[in-house]
Amino acid sequence: LPAIAVRNLVKRYGDTAVLHGIDLEIPPGQVSCLIGPSGSGKSTLLRCMAFLEEATSGTITVDGEVLGFSENSNGMRERIPAATNRAIRSKIGMVFQQFNLWPHMTALGNVSEALRTVHKMSRKDAEARAMEQLVKVGLEARAGHYPSQLSGGQQQRVAIARALALKPKIMLFDEPTSSLDPELTGEVLNVMRDLAAEGMTMVVVSHEIGFAATVGSQISFLDQGRLLFSGPPSEVFGKP
Ligand code: ADP
Ligand code: ADP
Repeated sequence: LPAIAVRNLVKRYGDTAVLHGIDLEIPPGQVSCLIGPSGSGKSTLLRCMAFLEEATSGTITVDGEVLGFSENSNGMRERIPAATNRAIRSKIGMVFQQFNLWPHMTALGNVSEALRTVHKMSRKDAEARAMEQLVKVGLEARAGHYPSQLSGGQQQRVAIARALALKPKIMLFDEPTSSLDPELTGEVLNVMRDLAAEGMTMVVVSHEIGFAATVGSQISFLDQGRLLFSGPPSEVFGKP
């Protein structure tokens, strides 16, 4: 069973189609990388997978469950009940280019707040789980620091810890290093490597070709809203 299955996905903004019928299966426990020129639709596809965008037509299933809208063979669409959608979406964690941390909260607060609001956890339990996640991204010593006191790489690791604290089965990364200075990208990529080594299912939009070639097991190339190729890195980048 694929972790995520995208079937004939079309996304239009007004009259302009930016995804022209994408078919893609994300294998569980592996890293799938989306590459392609700027404006080719990578971010839109990822946002549809997280149901941050509604596709115009086509379906997305997560662990075999339809997300957002089901579609019958006549193309008739039916909205999935909100509670079901929420349950499916909770399997997905997302990390963006911008870290979007709350500036008035510490690293620990940023990670634990989500647990308190989403899972109604007590402060004590939320902070304990948040700390576990900060340890995991190598930031236990920075738990009491505010975002302005952290480097971009550290802020992005807090954002990753925040997503992980909600215990997703699948993590989506949208250009997680592209707003970082070059010397800080390595620390974020290393956290992603650790996650991959643990068998986390990941979909990564990134220009870090080295990461895609070494950590990805599936590379998908988009161009002008079409999936031109999807396969193992050796077929995309050639054998070393
Ligand atoms: P990529 O991530 O590959 O750079 P995007 O998915 O961000 O590509 O964008 C694909 C195309 O969709 C681009 O032409 C972009 O301008 C367009 N697009 C993205 N979001 C919107 C929007 N909200 N409204 C209109 N066009 C959009
Ligand atoms: P990315 O490539 O990472 O999606 P962008 O700067 O292209 O970053 O897009 C940032 C935001 O602007 C997104 O929410 C996207 O949907 C929206 N957007 C992108 N292109 C357009 C567009 N042509 N018209 C309207 N909104 C757009």
